[in-house]
Amino acid sequence: MNYEFGKFGGQFVPPPVIEALNEVERAFNEAIEDPIFDVEYRYYLKNFVGRPSPIYYCENLTKKYGGAKIYLKREDLNHTGAHKINNTIGQILLAKRMGKTKVIAETGAGQHGVATATAAAMFGMECEIFQGAIDMERQKLNVFRMEMLGAKVTGVEQGTKTLADAVDYAIGKWVERIEDTFYLLGSAVGPHPYPTMVKYFQKVIGEEAREQILKEEGILPDTIIACVGGGSNAIGLFTEFINDKGVKIVGVEAAGKGLDTKEHAATMTLGKEGVIHGMNTKVVLDDDGNISPVYSISAGLDYPGVGPEHAFLESIDRVQYTSATDKEAVAAFLELSREEGIIPAIESSHALAYAVKLAPTLAKNKIILVNLSGRGDKDVEAIEEYLDM
Ligand SMILES: *Cc1c(COP(=O)(O)O)cnc(C)c1O
Repeated sequence: MNYEFGKFGGQFVPPPVIEALNEVERAFNEAIEDPIFDVEYRYYLKNFVGRPSPIYYCENLTKKYGGAKIYLKREDLNHTGAHKINNTIGQILLAKRMGKTKVIAETGAGQHGVATATAAAMFGMECEIFQGAIDMERQKLNVFRMEMLGAKVTGVEQGTKTLADAVDYAIGKWVERIEDTFYLLGSAVGPHPYPTMVKYFQKVIGEEAREQILKEEGILPDTIIACVGGGSNAIGLFTEFINDKGVKIVGVEAAGKGLDTKEHAATMTLGKEGVIHGMNTKVVLDDDGNISPVYSISAGLDYPGVGPEHAFLESIDRVQYTSATDKEAVAAFLELSREEGIIPAIESSHALAYAVKLAPTLAKNKIILVNLSGRGDKDVEAIEEYLDM
């Protein structure tokens, strides 16, 4: 088996799924060699998503911490409010190119479901979203959004009734409908070619940011930081900087209620090598070696696995992975809101929490670039509840 990322990655799925994956891989490899595909992808990123997203210098926050300059890459300004739409546009164009008329996707909190339903509406594709029954109940607003966009939302009743089971269920349904259906995966996870494909459609984040910071400041950042759930916004920022040896790269996971509790989602920090959702990567396991339920205040970081390329980048010491607790993320959420007038997604707030720790330890002429993966409108209720506790 070709693992793609050192010993990480691969295709740990039954033969019919491998066939479906091979079809996707062939189409993807052809598409990225075709200049017309690139023109189309760029067209929709510009005119539908609103790219390029700017970088923003946080003058107030920088003054407050008195160290390195803090910049944000504003993925929160994208249509639908996060980076996820970059990937759904790319994959749906590929689906169309393959002659598929239907897309299916899994979703946890509903953010990827909404991004998929949005792109499907625009491209006139039939769309069905699989969501754990418990998640559907917890995230009603996103269920309504998906339905308004014309998607069918199907509750998954098996297992934990959350994201991890929705992925398995969606893969199963895909194989039954492979003739006319494309499976649109939401993060840099799953069997090959998905992690590679999602990286390809998200790397625009880092390509833009690198050019923007060089134009603005004339130097590369000292450190770039992104939050890591499955790892798509992070790999999207990191890829263009991987060969810049002077740039430190940091991924921040959810430590939830603390690394010394069982309520966290710190896969890179506390996980072990294992197979989940068709890939060999790092996984959070329980005492019996089974995939463990994970927890974070942030639904988008609440995933027991991680993209295999992150496991690889850690193994070669190119990227450092750390974590932030709910408490630290909420503090960063409120601080950015009050200091800069930007309400960040609670996911992105994990990256911010690390940035404000790092800033005062660096000289004033250094730069920190944080990927603001999304906006926080969706999180205000959860934050309100947290503060009430
Ligand atoms: C979904 C989501 C994430 C986590 O997903 P990744 O694949 O790790 O990027 C992070 N931030 C926001 C705003 C999200 O919606």
